[in-house]
Amino acid sequence: MSLFNRLIVLTLPLVPKPIVRLISRRYVAGETLAEMLGTVQRLNQEGCVCTVDLLGEFITDIQQAHATAARYKMILDTLHQANVQSGVSIKLTALGLLLDEPTCLELVRDVVAYANTLKMFVRIDMEDSECTSRTLDIYLKLRNEFQNVGIVLQAYLRRTLGDVRQIIQAGAGDFRLCKGIYIEPREAAYPDPEIINKNYTLVLEEMLKRKTYVGIATHDEKLVWEAFRLIDAYGLEPDAYEFQMLLGVDEPMRKQIVAGGHKVRVYVPFGEQWYAYSMRRLKENPTIAGYVFQSFWRRLLGKEKHRETKLKELARQN
Ligand SMILES: Cc1cc2nc3c(=O)[nH]c(=O)nc-3n(C[C@H](O)[C@H](O)[C@H](O)COP(=O)(O)OP(=O)(O)OC[C@H]3O[C@@H](n4cnc5c(N)ncnc54)[C@H](O)[C@@H]3O)c2cc1C
Repeated sequence: MSLFNRLIVLTLPLVPKPIVRLISRRYVAGETLAEMLGTVQRLNQEGCVCTVDLLGEFITDIQQAHATAARYKMILDTLHQANVQSGVSIKLTALGLLLDEPTCLELVRDVVAYANTLKMFVRIDMEDSECTSRTLDIYLKLRNEFQNVGIVLQAYLRRTLGDVRQIIQAGAGDFRLCKGIYIEPREAAYPDPEIINKNYTLVLEEMLKRKTYVGIATHDEKLVWEAFRLIDAYGLEPDAYEFQMLLGVDEPMRKQIVAGGHKVRVYVPFGEQWYAYSMRRLKENPTIAGYVFQSFWRRLLGKEKHRETKLKELARQN
């Protein structure tokens, strides 16, 4: 990242919320169940399936975890009643992983069991490396009981290839493979993007050759190409894997993958806690962040006017 972009990222927290909100429309499907459902229906019409994430990661009180589990059941009901093609994605810290592990297991079991009665799927997101072993333990316990639950593995972690082998050995599977989003210590994760890409391809091949279902979650066209190569080399049918992308990121590539006859699942975050998520996405994309930054300063200096239109245009195009 250039020095200028780094500066932008550092000063992003100074940007007023309404400006961040304007840009974040691209990445977040609103605050309400109705807004979320509208986005899922639109994506289904475009030939994509979805997974819905309720925003809100860090909790300080186990009561918040109970409330989150109840909200997830409402989300499952909403999706089921509307007969749309979507599962849900869930973060275990939002269900109390770091506060009270037995309660977390009980709550996530409750959500997975409820989804099972509706024939719907629950994906457990992976968080930072302090959570990895605990998250995998809970996943393996649940997978013993239910088939409608899957896990995420991160290609930047040094342990991941070993985890894949152990999980498959234990008779479980159904992975989402992503690079990983958290800032990790060197002993846990590869810092070099080239090695991360090589490890992604290595781990993906291990998953595909062992015939476990994989959600190939990336916007990196080099990795999408590697995935196509492996799909072809192993002669996989389109129901053996899917691609996964975040809402609002590289829609042209998403359309191209769909047009190629591959299944694509879009990760649809929504909820009142959109701000932290949007800031993370903006930090990943300094070009967009740069426009937010310029707009903010022009506004301060009284030179706004046409920038608002420019921002709206940009949010629509991207
Ligand atoms: C469906 C899905 C689920 C995920 N779940 C998890 C999870 O559970 N745990 C976890 O740690 N991480 C998760 N991630 C995040 C992932 O780990 C990466 O941080 C993120 O996807 C960026 O990596 P990338 O593979 O797209 O490659 P990158 O090299 O980061 O990006 C490739 C290209 O995509 C474009 N791009 C990437 N991000 C953006 C953006 N925000 N805006 C515009 N363009 C962008 C850029 O042009 C970039 O050149 C998930 C990602 C996806 C797609």
